[in-house]
Amino acid sequence: MINNKIQEVCRNIKESSNTLVLTGAGISTESGIPDFRSQNTGLWEKIDPMEVLSTSVLFENPQKFYKEGYSLLLDMEDVQPNKGHVALAKLEEMGLIKGIITQNIDSLHQKAGSKKVLEVHGHIRTGTCLDCKSKINLRKLTNKVEIGEIPPICDKCGGLLRPDVVMFGDRLPDDFDRAQELIQDCELLIVVGSSLSVAPVSFLPQMASKVILINLEPTHFDRYAENVINEKSGIVLTKVLEELRKGE
Ligand code: NAD
Ligand code: ZN
Repeated sequence: MINNKIQEVCRNIKESSNTLVLTGAGISTESGIPDFRSQNTGLWEKIDPMEVLSTSVLFENPQKFYKEGYSLLLDMEDVQPNKGHVALAKLEEMGLIKGIITQNIDSLHQKAGSKKVLEVHGHIRTGTCLDCKSKINLRKLTNKVEIGEIPPICDKCGGLLRPDVVMFGDRLPDDFDRAQELIQDCELLIVVGSSLSVAPVSFLPQMASKVILINLEPTHFDRYAENVINEKSGIVLTKVLEELRKGE
């Protein structure tokens, strides 16, 4: 059954001249980073990220933000990409996918070798001063937090520092506008590891001509998809890569 579906995915990829991939937290669970909404293991079961990782908490209670929310980001720092990330990087190298739009902030696609990555929810490499807008390496920002400078303050102007990840209440970065443009010409969108419940990214699939979903659990978009595979993305993407390599 799954093998038939893999064949079908490979056929769609071969037939498409413009394939994009949209990834979510699910692709990184096999690297040990919990997602938000998986049953039993999702972060939402333990903590409400909306409570601790939002601009309202950052502005109104920076102490709470840096003591409770910020550590969620640090847990992603020393993590390695998994087979799913690696397979996507190879598919790009083979010219079979044009790029990745990711909701993830963990940089694992880049670590796996993917070149064209749009990060629509930001990333954990840098932070910004809210006042003078100067950038700071996230490691330096974290050092400040670790030595008890809470909230951490900009060395240049004394303004409040924030990580460059999109939080509840933020507008999306330019990468999202670029993603919307790219999707207009996309023949095939493969969604991997996303519950498709965070707007406005959740609207992207309906802009693509054809959609394939690779996700452990069902999503509200399943009925519109060409193909749905409810299996771990590391397993599925590795099989897809192996199959497509046979044709090389
Ligand atoms: P989500 O938590 O809402 O959904 C993840 C989905 O992935 C679930 O439906 C789950 O069934 C599925 N999944 C879990 N493990 C899987 C696997 N091995 N293979 C295939 N599917 C798997 O995630 P989302 O839709 O990306 O939305 C969450 C938001 O939280 C995003 O905006 C993202 O920025 C942020 N987030 C990012 C990370 C990260 O960077 N790694 C981690 C947690 C949350
Ligand atoms: Zn400043």
